[in-house]
Amino acid sequence: MNSITSSEDELRYELNGGSLFIELESDLTPGEQQAVTIEYTLTLPENGIRLAQVENNYYLAHWYPMLAEYDGGWQVNDYDPKGESYETGYGDYTVTYQLPEDYLIATSAPDGPAEASSSGTLTGEAIKDFYAAFLDPADWQVAERTSGNTELRVFVPAESEILEETAELSVEAFAYFEENIGDYPFAELDLIANDGYMEYPNIVEVPMDEELLDSILVHEIAHQWFYYLVANDPYENAWLDESLTEFSTGLFLSDYYGDEDSGFQNAKAYEESYETETYADLALDEFDTPAYYATVYGKVPLLVKGFFDERGGNEAALEFLAVYYGEFQFQRVTKQQFREFFETYFEGDQQAFLDSWLQ
Ligand SMILES: [Zn+2]
Repeated sequence: MNSITSSEDELRYELNGGSLFIELESDLTPGEQQAVTIEYTLTLPENGIRLAQVENNYYLAHWYPMLAEYDGGWQVNDYDPKGESYETGYGDYTVTYQLPEDYLIATSAPDGPAEASSSGTLTGEAIKDFYAAFLDPADWQVAERTSGNTELRVFVPAESEILEETAELSVEAFAYFEENIGDYPFAELDLIANDGYMEYPNIVEVPMDEELLDSILVHEIAHQWFYYLVANDPYENAWLDESLTEFSTGLFLSDYYGDEDSGFQNAKAYEESYETETYADLALDEFDTPAYYATVYGKVPLLVKGFFDERGGNEAALEFLAVYYGEFQFQRVTKQQFREFFETYFEGDQQAFLDSWLQ
């Protein structure tokens, strides 16, 4: 950290682990704005998790000081690699880059046609956290597809034989979620097959491995609806995005395979992988890693699937998700809001069902 200034005055700050606390010259009251300039340098960890340099490819995730959510206090948690321990609100971004050579650029902003460049300026609106990848053009092949009003740009390793397959499945899943859950209001979604298995606004990291395409590629695309376009605190309530994402993945895959159930094999495998917790709404640090996956990616999607199986099946589930998405788009949903929405949506008292898996 070189300096933090406001109107050229140096500000005092404290950097503790993953938390940067800046002391403003005057208190910031609700509705007021203050501009702060932060000057820093960053070295990317070679072969790191998420924020990484892999040979001549640079994956910038969580690479700048991100403004935390304020909800009765700053929502800042210790880093926990089993899930997402950061939470950020929606913001507008302008990012200018200058690189020592030409790279393919894939970011949370609309990047346009995939052509290598060494400098430029990108702007994007309503982005939760800004991700950027600078890719060595020699290492990648690209497919570009259009679905609705959105361009899908698919990057797979140059030697890979699954470019077409990845692009086809991406379009199928994306179109299904747009049609059944709701419109995707952005011009571009990028997919990078770097085995990152991770979601960011308007860009996802997906498998290189053909066998994992169905389960993981589709899951990461579904996250655009649950995590990005409907937001939540992923540390206290990871189920709000992960379980709804895995549930949506199961709905798509069942439709894709041509029945009501076969898309939920992945959730079944998660559930059977370890003893599940009774409650899904434990904080990340209250879960053992295997119990976290078994519960949040396995048990909850299957519980919800069972609930809808008695109330109109997968079609009714999609209608529910569409209304939920319409209600909460670009908002941060709390557990309480989800419970109230769920109660209002269905006739009859749903407390017993909700209490069986939420504290
Ligand atoms: Zn996920």
